[in-house]
Amino acid sequence: MTLKGIAVSPGIVIGKVFLLNIESFIIPKIAIKEEEVANEIERFKQVLKQTNEEIISIQKKLNRELGSKHSDIFNAHLLILDDPVLTEQMTDKIKKRKLTAEYLFQQVMRNYEKAFSEIDDAYFKERISDIQDVGKRIIRNLLGRKKANLANLKEEVIVVSYDLSPSDTALMGKEKVIGFATDIGGKTSHTAIMARALEIPAVVGLEKITVKAKNDDLLIIDGDKGIVIINPRRQVIEKYYKKREEDLKFNRELKKLRTLPAQTKDGYPIEITANIELPEEIDSALKEGAEGIGLYRTEYFFLNRSVLPTEEEQYQAYKFVAQKMNPHPVVIRTVDLGGDKFLSHLNIPSEMNPFMGWRAIRFCLARPDIFKIQLKAILRASRYGKLKIMYPMISSAEEFKQANRVLAEVKKELKEQNIPFDKEVEIGAMIEIPSAALTADILAKEADFFSIGTNDLIQYSLAVDRVNEKIAYLYEPNHPAILRLIKIIIEAAHKEEIWVGMCGEMCSEPVFIPLLLGLGLTKFSVSPLMLSRVKKVIRSLSLKEAKVAAKEILNLETIKEIKHFSRIRFKEAMLNFC
Ligand code: PEP
Ligand code: MG
Repeated sequence: MTLKGIAVSPGIVIGKVFLLNIESFIIPKIAIKEEEVANEIERFKQVLKQTNEEIISIQKKLNRELGSKHSDIFNAHLLILDDPVLTEQMTDKIKKRKLTAEYLFQQVMRNYEKAFSEIDDAYFKERISDIQDVGKRIIRNLLGRKKANLANLKEEVIVVSYDLSPSDTALMGKEKVIGFATDIGGKTSHTAIMARALEIPAVVGLEKITVKAKNDDLLIIDGDKGIVIINPRRQVIEKYYKKREEDLKFNRELKKLRTLPAQTKDGYPIEITANIELPEEIDSALKEGAEGIGLYRTEYFFLNRSVLPTEEEQYQAYKFVAQKMNPHPVVIRTVDLGGDKFLSHLNIPSEMNPFMGWRAIRFCLARPDIFKIQLKAILRASRYGKLKIMYPMISSAEEFKQANRVLAEVKKELKEQNIPFDKEVEIGAMIEIPSAALTADILAKEADFFSIGTNDLIQYSLAVDRVNEKIAYLYEPNHPAILRLIKIIIEAAHKEEIWVGMCGEMCSEPVFIPLLLGLGLTKFSVSPLMLSRVKKVIRSLSLKEAKVAAKEILNLETIKEIKHFSRIRFKEAMLNFC
């Protein structure tokens, strides 16, 4: 069976399915026979008992290790399990509807959640997460599966899941997780970005892969074409093994470019730096020939942990990155939490529109306590290399100045404490909100540099959620609106004589390189995996010709025309990438 989704991380892998987070799947509706009813009711009761025992044993462990304050959290779980109404309702439903307990239980859980969310009382609303937690545990037990832990898998697997959070993905061990496939998601979701960072081939937005694939099925992931094949025939497997060999050969060829300069055919130097999420990625960035780090997404440091990182921990990490990259520059982006990256332990309430909500610089300005600790750590590390600070999600010059005021306070404190730091550290803005793009001329008077964040810029300009596979066809960097905005940003920066680069995924994709060069972009910050591909395109293009072509493209009116024109005009440079 072949499924088509969205290709998010290149490469071909063939391996066994490992279903993850099955409790959030759509559980198929399976009927049971009359004579199986009594057994099914008994099975449900046994699972409640088993779940109860599990929770008591977790509670004991927590009590021993952390004290009763933490273990008391599970009292609410036990109360739900003991609720006689739950058993009565389930018994009744199994008898009447003759369907499996897991299917019916999921419905009962939804009713519980709904009822609790409608009660106008904060205490009950907070209990919803307890219901969800215990509900998932029960479903897991009904399905006879253990909670999967991505960090300590025993064999190589392809993870199949409804969704993966960026923090789930960050936990994946590359040696064991050789690929992944999900029902939902988009190309520029942070899960997809993380897959590329870890160099794990991946396809998302497959809609029903979790229903179609079973544990231990054989799966082929084609991360270039966005295709997943479940239990392929022998000839198909052979075809893909062959294709993988060809890919590996092509990649080996590409790697030879590592030490060569990123220079256009007519001799113009272009800077290619790398985007990283974790300090450990520095090695692969250097190996790929990155001339610096154009985007260090520091928020990953804040995920997958139960307390905030201290100033000292952050300082050590930033110092490590600064020293390792020295004399190359490192652009440290201050935390961009929110959107699809959450900190569970800060108890931030969930929002209707998280990507347009309390995230990034908005969160930092509202929590100067957290923001200042990070700024202090960056400044302290700044004397060990060439660090630059960049604020995410800037929407206006005022907001940029507000962030700078916090930075000034931190600098003052450091001076008073005689703590050395680089006084010349550059401060830049990510241009990823249309309002910032359209006022780039004003912002350019305040900032030392710009970095264009197309991942968000596209989602906000075109009103297309970057993680929603249903509207992924509308997420189009070739839209004339996007090209115009990029042009406005680059021109505004040039006019004020500040440098401008791009760190959004658009500039990691070979198809857009000629156009971006033509629009005047000279600094590309890309995922390390894509670095040599981007370099290859740059080296096979003439900047003068790209500029002429871009001028013509800006006069085109539709995406279709733009794509067609680019394909023809940049045919030679794109030879290996279309
Ligand atoms: C962007 O929005 O283009 C960007 C680089 O930031 P992020 O993907 O982390 O939102
Ligand atoms: Mg962004």
